[in-house]
Amino acid sequence: MKDCNCIFCKIANGEIPSSTVYEDEDFRVILDLGPAAKGHALILPKEHFKDVTELDPKIAAKVGTAMKKSLGCAGFNLVQNNGEAAGQTVFHFHVHVIPRYEGGPVIAGWEPGKEDPEVLAETAEKIKDAL
Ligand code: 5GP
Ligand code: ZN
Repeated sequence: MKDCNCIFCKIANGEIPSSTVYEDEDFRVILDLGPAAKGHALILPKEHFKDVTELDPKIAAKVGTAMKKSLGCAGFNLVQNNGEAAGQTVFHFHVHVIPRYEGGPVIAGWEPGKEDPEVLAETAEKIKDAL
């Protein structure tokens, strides 16, 4: 279940070296080459195309807790991009674990908008109908 052209398959399976902070039978956790903050990590499943339902949330909690202990960050964000429009650039499922430091830059945020309660209700109906 590997894709020979996929960089994350090669990294996850140890064919390309990486700064690994955790590894088990199913996952490798590496440091991002272009970190949003010091210690920014990526959780990579070893199998290509495994999706969010395959992620063991304990790994994310474990890595985030270790970052707080070892790097002194005050918290962390879990970020997972799905599709180009959402900012995904490597199409092998992965979860970002981004340490957040007191007084650090805003990394993942948005300006809260305003919405009419009727439009909220309509939108909720549309999503519910598609579930
Ligand atoms: P995405 O935008 O798909 O959610 O995230 C892809 C992430 O992978 C980016 O943050 C990028 O810096 C990181 N990345 C891309 N190629 C490599 C690589 O070869 N090694 C490592 N360690 N990170 C990479
Ligand atoms: Zn892959």
